Amino acid sequence: MAIKYKRVVLKLSGEALAGDAGKGINPPEIRKVAEEIKDVHDLGVEIAIVVGGGNMWRGVTGEQLGIERAQADYIGMLGTVMNALALQDTLESLGVPTRVQTAIEMRQVAEPYIRRKAVRHLEKGRIVIFAAGTGSPYFSTDTTAALRASEINADVILMAKNGVDGIYSADPKKDASAIKFETLTHLDIINKGLHVMDSTASTLSMDNDIPLVVFNMNKRGNIKKVVQGENIGTTVEG
Ligand code: UDP
Repeated sequence: MAIKYKRVVLKLSGEALAGDAGKGINPPEIRKVAEEIKDVHDLGVEIAIVVGGGNMWRGVTGEQLGIERAQADYIGMLGTVMNALALQDTLESLGVPTRVQTAIEMRQVAEPYIRRKAVRHLEKGRIVIFAAGTGSPYFSTDTTAALRASEINADVILMAKNGVDGIYSADPKKDASAIKFETLTHLDIINKGLHVMDSTASTLSMDNDIPLVVFNMNKRGNIKKVVQGENIGTTVEG
């Protein structure tokens, strides 16, 4: 089967690594995700991964609990590094070569983010895991995905969701009348106020013409299907 996207940025939320509890790191869950990623890697697709940290800590929640927002966001960014290391270990145990690059330097555990080096790793068939978000507070890992995808000239952002198979007019878990969109533009998402990514991530993707595919990653084989161009989620373009 043909490959539609040659270089992808896969956005994994922290919850994707957490299992049912939604918190912490769950190695069996990470293994499932890693196996799927390996299947796509075996096709020869260049894969960069942006990992979230919502399973550890969210800056906004920290702020509500009384920690200064910027400080709380740095805690969140460090959470993404823990996820990245767990994912790296699991992928490598499956024989997939990887590099973690962090937006906040911590040379003992990972490389610092260097764009040209990241591209070189991809060309050599290594999966690059981007950790610590953008390195700046007040941003999200969705925005990181849009930024890194632009920087490395990725063909698409693959946004893996837990249990939801695309973008709906309302939350399908709460509203039975919610309808699924097959295609949308980034501007549609902003105008309709759809909760897909935060608005900074949407505008960055729009301005830099980065397509986005939102799909359910809880079904085995779905990442591969999306990369091969099967229409199983919602595609956002333009
Ligand atoms: N974060 C940040 N700057 C970034 C990326 C992330 O400050 O560029 C912080 C922010 O506090 C966020 C947390 O890291 O709440 C975890 O990331 P995110 O919420 O995007 O994770 P996800 O929802 O994808 O699991």
